[in-house]
Amino acid sequence: MKIIIAEHAGFCFGVRNAVLTAEKAARNGPVFSLGPLIHNQQETTRLEKLGVKEKIDTKQESSVLIRTHGVGPQVYTKLKKQGQKIIDATCPHVRKAQMAAKEAQEQGYQVFVLGDKNHAEVQGIVAWTEDKAVVIASLEELKKLELQDRVALLAQTTETENRFNELISYLQTKVTDLKILPTICSATRIRQAVAAKLAQEVDLMIVVGGQHSSNTKKLTEICQKYVSTYQVEKAQDLQFCWFQNKKKVGVTAGASTPDWIIKEVVEQMEEFKENNQGENTEEIKVENQGETIKQNQEEIEETTSEKTDELTQSTVNLDDQISIQTFQPGDLVKGTVVQVSSEEALIDIGGKSEGVLPVTEFTNYKADLNKELQVGEEILVEVIKKDKEGNIILSRKKAYFNEVMDKLEQAQKAGEIIEAPVTDIVKGGLLVDVGVRGFVPASQVERFFVKDFKEYLQKTLRLKVLELDICERTTFL
Ligand code: SF4
Repeated sequence: MKIIIAEHAGFCFGVRNAVLTAEKAARNGPVFSLGPLIHNQQETTRLEKLGVKEKIDTKQESSVLIRTHGVGPQVYTKLKKQGQKIIDATCPHVRKAQMAAKEAQEQGYQVFVLGDKNHAEVQGIVAWTEDKAVVIASLEELKKLELQDRVALLAQTTETENRFNELISYLQTKVTDLKILPTICSATRIRQAVAAKLAQEVDLMIVVGGQHSSNTKKLTEICQKYVSTYQVEKAQDLQFCWFQNKKKVGVTAGASTPDWIIKEVVEQMEEFKENNQGENTEEIKVENQGETIKQNQEEIEETTSEKTDELTQSTVNLDDQISIQTFQPGDLVKGTVVQVSSEEALIDIGGKSEGVLPVTEFTNYKADLNKELQVGEEILVEVIKKDKEGNIILSRKKAYFNEVMDKLEQAQKAGEIIEAPVTDIVKGGLLVDVGVRGFVPASQVERFFVKDFKEYLQKTLRLKVLELDICERTTFL
């Protein structure tokens, strides 16, 4: 597994500056931050230990830190009245957005801010327009509003360019004077572009950042468009199963994620990688033909010129044998069934190699391979491992796992009804085969109470997907 860290990840200029400012100020006594300095619990805890606290003591004079998100003018006035010492760590990009909104409002424009109305940065920007700016979360919201002739449009610094451009295109057709205020921060833009590119090159993305960090959430949304993505706050949130069979994993991090957390996450992934290699990623060579090849070479060298025909024949055999096929666990291979019994099938997977497909790896329910497979049939399998006897063990159910999970995910999103046979009765419900193991809780089988589920065995049920558990490879229906 290769781990690739995005070129631009973690602390942006504004956050780094705020953290350094807070650390420096805390050397001279406690500093009170107006709200969490950054949206990262682990970093906030570390800063707290250094003396950067969140709760402000209004009774006594103290140092109050204004965080990167900034605040409205009323807050400055209030703090000054209280006699507090203000340490202003408002990010210059946010300051620029505040001033641009203020100026546009003073010039008589109807001001719109694309962003999250509950976010401190947006609330601060609106406050600089005497609370006149209107916050919109989407184009749909904007379409419902009455527009004046002169409109100014800006965005929360962490917004995506696409969403901002959508609004611009719409407004250009609706108003006579449109003032576009480009307030999306370049740090955000670059991180998003780099993350999108990386997400297209890997099998999995890990986004590191606080659950409440809006720029981290945006990075996650962007990566999810291209590849399976998990957002984690810290190394302990990572799950081993996410990395199984993954060859390339990308890592990016929100602008409020400190380097030390990214480092811990990557170290944990490295550990998983080693465990993975120990258990699963042993390189499997189909056959060690070194001896045979060497022997043939010697034979060829001894061949006299009178034996040209024979030599040609030997060379052909040698070339044939040199094409040693190498497989890795996790490789998907198209093979041909060459022999079948009820318990296992031999699959020709190329390179003069045959792998063994045990019945337990065919599907999740009890099957008779004689009935399921035909000699000569093509089948997609995944290489799992080499057993003690040197046989390559294959799995059909693992090969189809991702495809099946994708289909189930689509069915879940669309609320589609799927059909699946009941394969077993277990404690608490029924097991069904939906390509992977599906579990139907007893309470979801019928609208009425069912005392005995025996009659459901082998029946086909109409089901909706409630939940997918990729780690347990289980669907809840
Ligand atoms: S993301 Fe941009 S606007 Fe926000 S703090 Fe960082 S540099 Fe400033």
